Parts: sequence; C-alpha cells; structure tokens
Amino acid sequence: MAEAEEDEVDAPLVFQCKSCSIIIGDSWSMQSSDAEMETITLSAAANVSRADEAVTSKQGADVGSTFHLLHCGKCAAHLGKVYLTTARAFDALRDMYTFSTDAVTSYKLGGGEPALGADGSAAGGGGVAAVQVELAEAVDNVEKLQNLVLVLDERIAKLEEGRAEHGGGKRRRS
Ligand SMILES: [Zn+2]
Repeated sequence: MAEAEEDEVDAPLVFQCKSCSIIIGDSWSMQSSDAEMETITLSAAANVSRADEAVTSKQGADVGSTFHLLHCGKCAAHLGKVYLTTARAFDALRDMYTFSTDAVTSYKLGGGEPALGADGSAAGGGGVAAVQVELAEAVDNVEKLQNLVLVLDERIAKLEEGRAEHGGGKRRRS
C-alpha cells in the first residue's frame, strides 16, 4: 500500500476508454495509481471484459505476476490487467482493475465549459431572454400553421362537396 501514490484529484473523475469513450469507471473506486507503471487501479469497473486466459508477465515492473488481460467491453481495445498473483510490491493490485493510463481518458465532474459567462451574459446567443423570444416565435409559427390547416380544410371540404355531387350523378343507375 505504501507504493501507492496519493491521489491529487480535487473532484470526482469519470474514466473512459480512450478509443470509444465508453465509461469504464470512476474515481469513487480508485485504489491507487502508479507513475512508473503508468497505471491506475480501481476496485470496480464498468463495460470491461476480462480475458479467460491467465498470462504471466515475462518482463517489466510486474515480472512474475499472473494476470488476465482487460479489454473494453464495447470496442475491445486493450485497457489493462486484472492481477491474480503479484510480487509483494503489487499486493494492492491483486483482484483489482488496473488500467494503463495511455488507454484511458478521464473527465472531471464539473469540468465543462459554462454556458453563461461570469457576468451572466451568454457565451453564445442571448441566454434565457433569447430562448423566450425563440419560444414566442415558435408559438407564433404554430398558430400560423393552424390557420393554414383550417384554410386547407375548408378547401378540401369544398372539393369533396363538388366530388360528392358528381359521384351522386354517376351512382344514379337507370
Ligand atoms: Zn472502447
């Protein structure tokens, strides 16, 4: 556990597959991160598939460890490992989801661009006032359409009247 680096995240993070952006986990289940191995380790993950076959690492920091490869459940991109047996230094990673940091991307909650500027003015467009104007225009357009439908209805009614008269004539058998 002493090997694990202290996490410096000040807001919850959502982790995503870098290839297809599907959500694979979040910082609520973050156990540790390792700058040298370039991994983050979570106790829970979503939308991932674990290979059936267990593999033994032949090189690198985790040499001698046994693990299942971890893939994205949507696009099948290689995301990391689930360790079965580890060297003492990696005890904390066992039975956890360990993701390669270059295979995942993250989104910090509350990290989006605000639609409104700090002074309340909109970044693009006129904000609430503009929306209300647009809504009024939309209602106006609907009323115009309703009038148009009524006019067309009347025309159709007249046409049908005319046709009914002709049809009536044809139906008269002698
Ligand atoms: Zn993916």
